[in-house]
Amino acid sequence: MAINLDEYTCEFCGKQCKNIVYAAFVCDDPNCLEEARLARGGPGGHMKKKAEGKPIIPIELENEIDENKKL
Ligand SMILES: [Zn+2]
Repeated sequence: MAINLDEYTCEFCGKQCKNIVYAAFVCDDPNCLEEARLARGGPGGHMKKKAEGKPIIPIELENEIDENKKL
């Protein structure tokens, strides 16, 4: 299935869409790519996790810590 990006506009600046990143339509402007990253799970994602009372450390790191406890 091909998506015709020409039919879409950047979610952040409204220019023509060039990419789909983090489930967002964005142009090729690095600022917009960054906006998409932040919107879908950058620091904002961590804050959300923290607000839910979950640990903010990455899962991989968490597992590593658990393994260290066992030793
Ligand atoms: Zn843009």
